[in-house]
Amino acid sequence: VFKVYCEGLFHENIKLGTIFVHRNITKEFEVDRIKSEFVSTVSHELRTPLASILGFTELILTRELKPDRQKKYLSTIYNEAGRLTALINDFLDIQRMESGNQGYERQQLELLPIIQKVVELQKIHSDKHDLILEVIGGSDNVLGDPEKLEQALTNLVHNAIKYSPEGGEVRITLFEKDSFVTIQIQDEGLGIPPEAIDKVFEKFYRVDNSDRRSIGGTGLGLAIVKEIVHVHDGSINVDSEYGKGSTFTISLPVLPALSAVTSK
Ligand code: ADP
Repeated sequence: VFKVYCEGLFHENIKLGTIFVHRNITKEFEVDRIKSEFVSTVSHELRTPLASILGFTELILTRELKPDRQKKYLSTIYNEAGRLTALINDFLDIQRMESGNQGYERQQLELLPIIQKVVELQKIHSDKHDLILEVIGGSDNVLGDPEKLEQALTNLVHNAIKYSPEGGEVRITLFEKDSFVTIQIQDEGLGIPPEAIDKVFEKFYRVDNSDRRSIGGTGLGLAIVKEIVHVHDGSINVDSEYGKGSTFTISLPVLPALSAVTSK
């Protein structure tokens, strides 16, 4: 509530008025909270790989190491530098999304080769999970940006691995239904608590439960996936049972001009 003097409005009369200002500040507090949480998440996410890069480089520089050990340390440094690159790419993507300058280049393409590539690459990064690709059939032709679609699928398969215990199965299924190509990524991991299910696609949102506190992340992966899917006129949803696993489903419109693929 502000009290104001309205001088001169009514000749020499000085009126005292009261203006009621209703402003919902809950949202502003929420934005502040998310911002400061983000800064601490980012600092942590940057610091962890950097600490390991510095530590292992120091070991290589200051110790006489056997070649196999040296190679092991170098490969850790390489992987951690890759993590940093992926992180920075996520930030850039979000920033591009905000500024509306995403630079999509859509073309006629088949989804299966993209999924196969994603699965193969993830298998190289993690041999501790059982990745199964199942192609049920139908058309896999869409109008899409291959790099962006690869990124969206990578984020989903990567999450399925990241939020599953070792030895868990991740099943990726591709099929066509009602003129949509559908890809399901199903895991047997931690699952998502019911109160978080509506929020996981929000920027910077992370589930803060004890079962996943030690798992790194920025809360950007699913926001990026959602954006990519929407730009492709598709839809994404998640079905999850807490403690049992999750299934993420992406559907993209089939491109009718291309002929159907029934068996691959
Ligand atoms: P990040 O993994 O960096 O935290 P994401 O945007 O990819 O960010 O995911 C948001 C949140 O959703 C994660 O913090 C995680 O708790 C939850 N989540 C995402 N994918 C899965 C999954 N496959 N299984 C369980 N939880 C998941």
